Amino acid sequence: MIIPQIVYRALKTADPECLRKAVFNLGIGTARSVVKFKQRMKRGEYFPAFLYISILNSCNLRCQGCWVDVDKPREAIPLDGLNRIINDARENGNRFFGLLGGEPFMYPELIDLIVQHPDCYFQIFTNGQLITDKKANQLRQLGNVTPLISIEGSEIVSNERRGGKDVLNRTLRGLDACLNNGLLTGVATSLCQSNIDDLLREEWLSKLIDRGVHYAWYHTYRPVGPQINPQLALTPEQLRRVRQFVVDMRAKLPLLLIDSYYDHKGQALCPMTTGISHHISPTGAVEPCPIIQFSRESALDSRGIYKTMTKSSFLKDFRETAAKNTRGCIVLERPDLVQSLVERHDAEDSTIRKTAMSEIQSMSPRPSQYIPGEEIPEKHWMYRLAKSIFFNDFGAYSEFDPSKVVAAPASEASNSDSESSVDDSNATV
Ligand code: SF4
Repeated sequence: MIIPQIVYRALKTADPECLRKAVFNLGIGTARSVVKFKQRMKRGEYFPAFLYISILNSCNLRCQGCWVDVDKPREAIPLDGLNRIINDARENGNRFFGLLGGEPFMYPELIDLIVQHPDCYFQIFTNGQLITDKKANQLRQLGNVTPLISIEGSEIVSNERRGGKDVLNRTLRGLDACLNNGLLTGVATSLCQSNIDDLLREEWLSKLIDRGVHYAWYHTYRPVGPQINPQLALTPEQLRRVRQFVVDMRAKLPLLLIDSYYDHKGQALCPMTTGISHHISPTGAVEPCPIIQFSRESALDSRGIYKTMTKSSFLKDFRETAAKNTRGCIVLERPDLVQSLVERHDAEDSTIRKTAMSEIQSMSPRPSQYIPGEEIPEKHWMYRLAKSIFFNDFGAYSEFDPSKVVAAPASEASNSDSESSVDDSNATV
């Protein structure tokens, strides 16, 4: 009886315009864009149905393990550039756009951007701290926005993880502003050693339900960037525990739970490898995904984002190389392959700090979502059905042969403790 409860909660708490846009722009619009994605794929053309755009690098927090240049001079994609990207993607069937940063609510023209695309749908990845009642009310009137607010732990852990004071309370104030204004609102957590026991619990999800939250998304901490903090990364057993918990809670609680790393059979996948999503950095660089900070193309190129991405041999090679070597995360499991791909294409370091290659070279291979033999299929029919049609590997791993997977060579740097000494501090997203 989960579905009727989820629908009832949404009808009772969300603004009618937000509900209408969620059904038409997000539900029907995105379903259509995935169908178009699959049709293109059949003719060998890859343009992601889910575009993630980091609209600026600036942020008011300094989180552990963040790979964004939040402490560097402000870089932001100009509004007209963003409109060109969204219009071109929209003309090719896309309706969903993920807006990231830095902190997207530090982008002054954020509302102007959303106003100009009324039939699209925007998921804003935010720490929630800059969302006032007035801002939330503006978003309610537009209706085509869902804030996904990141909460990283208890008050103490939040201050520690996010490098600020009173972090949790300020974030909760933003969350309540969204809920009080009837926005469909989600809470995301990047699970790591310092918060998994606090936040990977049914009690925590029940608290979110009581507060009025509509969905949740558990990411798993990616030890990348200038301050890698490998000690925060989860073990394979913990990664398996996260998967089991999500599958169980989906069949038990009236709260939608998102994930982007498993299909309906519980097989691991990488959304970059399947081509369903790619990323654009705050400087407009076209990147395979947010943590692969190398690029050959600009999203602001006059050809338009569609041509730029479908013609990119760099993206193609990244997808295909990853698909042959793992169903998991090529960055975590095979940083050596990331390095060789970048060198093969003479790709540019798309960070502002220009230390992306030394960061990759300092990484030692580690496990990710792909734990062979530990597949946990979806329990609830709705997730099984939705994923079997709209979110699976789309045949990307047809050439993947687990028996042929070679263990990643230990990088020179991994023998020393260089991982924690790359010269830059940053925040997480
Ligand atoms: S490469 Fe890793 S971080 Fe990037 S989309 Fe794939 S699994 Fe996620």
